Amino acid sequence: MIQQGAFQGLKCTECHARYPKDEILQKCRKCAGLLDTIINPEILSEKSTGNLDRSPSMWKFRDFLPVDATDKIVSAGEGDTPLRKLNSFQGNVWVKDETRNPTGTFKDRGASLAVTTLSKLGVKDLVLSSEGNAGCSFVLYSHLADIDCSVFLPRQANPAKVELSRKLGATVTLVDGTITDAGRQAEAVANREGSYNASTFVTPYRHDGKGTMALEICEQLGWRPPDWIVYPLGGGVGLVGMWKMFSILEKIEWVKKRPRFVAVQPAGCAPVVRAYNSKKEDVDEWKNPETIAFGLRIPKPLAGKWILRSLRESDGIALSVTDEEIRKSMGQALKAEGLLLEPSSAATLAALPYLYGEKMIDRSEEVVVIATGSGLKTLEQF
Ligand SMILES: [Zn+2]
Repeated sequence: MIQQGAFQGLKCTECHARYPKDEILQKCRKCAGLLDTIINPEILSEKSTGNLDRSPSMWKFRDFLPVDATDKIVSAGEGDTPLRKLNSFQGNVWVKDETRNPTGTFKDRGASLAVTTLSKLGVKDLVLSSEGNAGCSFVLYSHLADIDCSVFLPRQANPAKVELSRKLGATVTLVDGTITDAGRQAEAVANREGSYNASTFVTPYRHDGKGTMALEICEQLGWRPPDWIVYPLGGGVGLVGMWKMFSILEKIEWVKKRPRFVAVQPAGCAPVVRAYNSKKEDVDEWKNPETIAFGLRIPKPLAGKWILRSLRESDGIALSVTDEEIRKSMGQALKAEGLLLEPSSAATLAALPYLYGEKMIDRSEEVVVIATGSGLKTLEQF
């Protein structure tokens, strides 16, 4: 165990203002920019891959996370998910199977970390807007930490996601419109009632949790990063979180290079693909988003600039796939690989024929696809 933790506070991604770690923070108080945690690689470099914690969860990598050694962890065994080879996609393709998480999605990693941090800071009630999966995760972890939780979901959310949130005792409000409209309502309630808003990037305590996927993938491949990570892009929490962790791993020389990212969005809501491919600095809102991949129906991700920066630094690719291609990939993943995916997850597999067909990726290169969520909560879309 490290004596002094690597977590040293927070900083604004826009104006670089710094904040101490014991404050309850949302966005930058000076410029409303998004906040990132400061994890000091020098302190991590005192560790080695040989003496990692043995917890069967993402908390094996707690030294990389914004917590202190004595913090009480709110965990349901999230993370530590399998990495397995897929044989039916005719390349060197591995899947990071996040469907094995407690509520069936990678959102559990972010929620476990955020609720751990907020619980320590004394937060008693939180609100958030979600397409459904993050809602389920936050409801579960809030319940475990005895924190009240209110979730705002678009009315179109999958019924199982609404039901699971209600069964766990959360206040669930269905909102007409998109997640942007749900976000406005969550913010209004947070402001009126003084609740903590844990929505995507309105809190700085989620992305490092998802970043643990990068650490696990490298460990599972024998501390050798893959050539490519294919990621379904909605709010971008996992992409910026993983890119940060890959960068830390390279700095402390646990790996010799960083992978390149492929960001995949549905053709009916592809604001990041459009912005990236037209070399924009920020993401413009996508009007009238329409897709079966509800988790990717994010018309204007709050972290647009941060996502584009990470994708560019990785020399990445951004492309979109149709709903029909997503459906076809869901069928192939289930029938050929025994992998039950929700549409948002299957979008990554739908991108593979393009990546190989257009020779953007060579079939010998090692590709890790992030299967972000189980199809058990979205069976009506199968
Ligand atoms: Zn700022």
